[in-house]
Amino acid sequence: MNNGDTKPNGLTTSRRDFLKVLGVAGAGAATVSCGPPDVGDKLIPYLVPPDDIVPGTNVTYSTILAHAGPEPVGVHAKVRDGRVIKLEGNPEFPNRGALSALAQSSLQDLYDPDRVQGPREKVSGEWSESTWEDAVKAAAAAVGAGRTLLLTPPATGTAAKFLAEWAETMGVEWISWEPFGYEAMRAANEIAFGRPEIPSYDLAAADHVVSFGADFQATWLAPIQLARQFADARAIEDGEAPARLTFVGPRLSLTGTNADTWLPAGAGSEASVALAVAREVAQRRGGGEAARVRDLLAPFTADAVAEASGISAEKITTLGRQLAEAASPVALPPDTSGQGVYATEVHLAVTILNYVMGAIGTTVQFGSGPVRGSSASYADMRALTARLREGEFRTVVTAGVNPVYALPAASGFAAALADVANHISLSSHVDETAAAAGWILASSHELESWGDVEIAPGTFGLQQPVMRPVFDTRQREDILLAIAVAAGRDPGVESYGAYLQSAWQDVGGADFEGWWYGTLSDGTPVRRPSVGAPAEAAPPLSAAAANHSFTLPAADDGLSLVLYPTAQFYDGRGANRSWMQELPDAVTRAVWNSWVELHPATAEPLGIETGDLVEVSTAAGKVQAPAFVYRGIRPDTIAVPLGQGHTAYGRIAAGRGVHALSLLDGTADPRSGALAYAGTAAEVTAIGQRSGLPIMQGNDTDMGREISELISVDAAMAAQQAHHVDLTELVEAAWDSDPDSPYRWGMTIDLNACNGCGACVTACYAENNLPTVGEDLCAQGREMSWMQIMRYYEETEDEGFQTVHTPVLCQQCGDAPCEPVCPVYAAYHNPEGLNAQVYNRCVGTRYCANNCPYKVRRFNWFTYEHPYPLNLQLNPDVTVRQKGVMEKCTFCVQRINRAKLDAKAEGRPVEDGEIMTACMQTCPTQAIKFGNLKDPASNVSRIAKGPRGYGMLEELNTRPAITYLKSVTYASVAEGHGEHGDGGLDEEVDHQPEVSTHG
Ligand code: SF4
Repeated sequence: MNNGDTKPNGLTTSRRDFLKVLGVAGAGAATVSCGPPDVGDKLIPYLVPPDDIVPGTNVTYSTILAHAGPEPVGVHAKVRDGRVIKLEGNPEFPNRGALSALAQSSLQDLYDPDRVQGPREKVSGEWSESTWEDAVKAAAAAVGAGRTLLLTPPATGTAAKFLAEWAETMGVEWISWEPFGYEAMRAANEIAFGRPEIPSYDLAAADHVVSFGADFQATWLAPIQLARQFADARAIEDGEAPARLTFVGPRLSLTGTNADTWLPAGAGSEASVALAVAREVAQRRGGGEAARVRDLLAPFTADAVAEASGISAEKITTLGRQLAEAASPVALPPDTSGQGVYATEVHLAVTILNYVMGAIGTTVQFGSGPVRGSSASYADMRALTARLREGEFRTVVTAGVNPVYALPAASGFAAALADVANHISLSSHVDETAAAAGWILASSHELESWGDVEIAPGTFGLQQPVMRPVFDTRQREDILLAIAVAAGRDPGVESYGAYLQSAWQDVGGADFEGWWYGTLSDGTPVRRPSVGAPAEAAPPLSAAAANHSFTLPAADDGLSLVLYPTAQFYDGRGANRSWMQELPDAVTRAVWNSWVELHPATAEPLGIETGDLVEVSTAAGKVQAPAFVYRGIRPDTIAVPLGQGHTAYGRIAAGRGVHALSLLDGTADPRSGALAYAGTAAEVTAIGQRSGLPIMQGNDTDMGREISELISVDAAMAAQQAHHVDLTELVEAAWDSDPDSPYRWGMTIDLNACNGCGACVTACYAENNLPTVGEDLCAQGREMSWMQIMRYYEETEDEGFQTVHTPVLCQQCGDAPCEPVCPVYAAYHNPEGLNAQVYNRCVGTRYCANNCPYKVRRFNWFTYEHPYPLNLQLNPDVTVRQKGVMEKCTFCVQRINRAKLDAKAEGRPVEDGEIMTACMQTCPTQAIKFGNLKDPASNVSRIAKGPRGYGMLEELNTRPAITYLKSVTYASVAEGHGEHGDGGLDEEVDHQPEVSTHG
């Protein structure tokens, strides 16, 4: 059992060793096994320091997080003096050293003050503290009282085996479920290939990606992995044409905003578009694959599909031609937002398109896809609801799931659960499901737990606790073991940690200890050799699929509702984290709220503008939220994000935004049982009031100032071919830094790679102790983020638009306008070219912020709180600022100084690539590079000298140390765009602040 007698490197240790690790004496000894050190305790220096702890330096532990977002991620946890302060991606895992914003925010989940801090019993409707002994006894009695259900998230690896064995031993029925369970994908692949699998997609090898609504850079399947793959395919430096991205669907998601072409097919019509495109490809390519589905595709002519989908026949034909000509195309099926009552049909149609294009077995492979564990479908949960209602279960144990929130009220689950005699919750938070329980057995965070996760068939990552539990919690499996013991069963093991080790004994072999500690310490994936016969990567298309008769929806006149998950909240799990609430949405740039997206042509007749309160009503219910008028949505579609509108879960989440699921009547796709998140008939009306919707961007365009630049692929390719990089040429001027300094730090940001995911922004919050300020101060433009991902629209010649996501941070100018205006020299130029900020000199005149053309300086209007235990996450290498002080990015100067100290100790200069800023390290697409501009051959110098490089507002002669690389597109960009000239200074420029509110 994980009761605090283990230390993070996996070694079993004694209480005495623990005292050494914590450096706590006296009263601390009494607290060591049941909570973190009391800050009031007397601290003494290490007399005999533990081997792996050096006070004041980080120790890095490898582990894996299964629930940090849509995909499991390997992480390196930086631990300082017994507490984890930062997470970085583990380069050995498929996330390749990157983490998403949501994964970065796992730390706020770990240190969430709203976590359940110990076992709790509900007495007269109120939670009261209990003991583990009583809680476990009560849970065992409940499980023994009658038929019991255990409901968990999908599990893989040893956890799946453990849960199955526990359920069998206890005579309990175990069901695993998650809201976004890829049911339609599995159902379609069952029809097509007899294999209900999630395949793997290789976007790096693709030259044309067609997304039928898959938001693969934010929330679909494995966004960190897929974003990196697409960035690799999109790179232009290797001389090959970059991959093209076409987006088909009613609303431009984050991924959609990065597409070259948008085909705004109506919700539900994606299948007919896919089949019409497949028909075009088949006609051009011919071949065996095409012949098998010729009859199936025959009715889907471009003309026949045009009307139902709203996509012109010409556009369908063009896409078909492009895909027929592509060497390595791939089509991606819809995500949750495209999941309607025809979800399986759409997935099957996309599969047939992949089949016709020859993608099955090349860019789409079976047998090697992500392992997600089995998940009950929405229809299964409806069936379970009926069983609960009929009184089949005496006891329900919910462990790490929140169905009361994540199933629509129309499913009746919450009401049925309330009628069950005993409800025991194993939860880290009092979320909506735990709130309905009679007992909460406080569960540990993944960072406090043992485990393993199967990331691909036969490939696993080991999970280890990287610190002792913050609160009096236990990991889920250890609680279940304790319940088994209390119920009189002999589980045969003392703890889940021991169970896990025994499960790997066969792989570890004779020297198991050496293998175990070595693997934990290396943080590399491990393979279990016997995983059965290798699966066929390109199974043949079944006759059932080749002769499938598609049932497709007819065009509808009314408004269609689309609900979609966001990168911040996903299924709602990110809603109680202030970093996620304050991370602007990539599409709307809104924070701390929900909104209703509608097209200008829909909004205008109703007199609706962004920020107006509107009511959306469906047959199931109604919600009121501020409007966001958006060009990237069809006029017959409205969209509402998922993940907000909690009634419990914590102080930040509860009561914020709207619960979009209340608009659904619970209709499901009959073939897969997947909940229909798209296609519900809806109405929208104006309420006649303004509503607060803080939008962290003043203008939708850069007003001709060429802040973000976009050029055509042809122009970029031509420039690349004509360009020669001189590795001896310096990109910095003599006055940018001290001539005697060997360093001038600089950065490049590739706008062609950046997709606007915001991971860099959250990593900056975590690394640099940035406070969140809340909704009201955001509405006043007082956010403290050192990075902004500006979302600028660029017009195209066909009256469309392209979006360029542009990270804006302090440019570390060589001639910095902020420096000469500071009356107290708080803003000054350091010898290495950084614009340093001396906090204890700053008197808060804010002249520097006024004089900064980039508007990247942030002023502390207040001393912001980091309530315990969130303060345990603060980086000790970075000052926590107070009221009255100006702050901004300094390229993670603490990391620069650490690298310089290390280099000095070893008598060498800092090497190229040795320093990674927090934003660079976490970026899934590697859009950001950092290094020494004084070295003309460094990676950052080489990239900065490329033909797409430009300095933001360089016409002001600020000599920025950041070089942006222009974004490229296959769309027809306006003539002359992207040719950096006078910055459009002769154009009329609206001098609005960068931040404003529509509220
Ligand atoms: S630069 Fe930032 S917003 Fe852009 S892709 Fe990288 S992490 Fe995401």
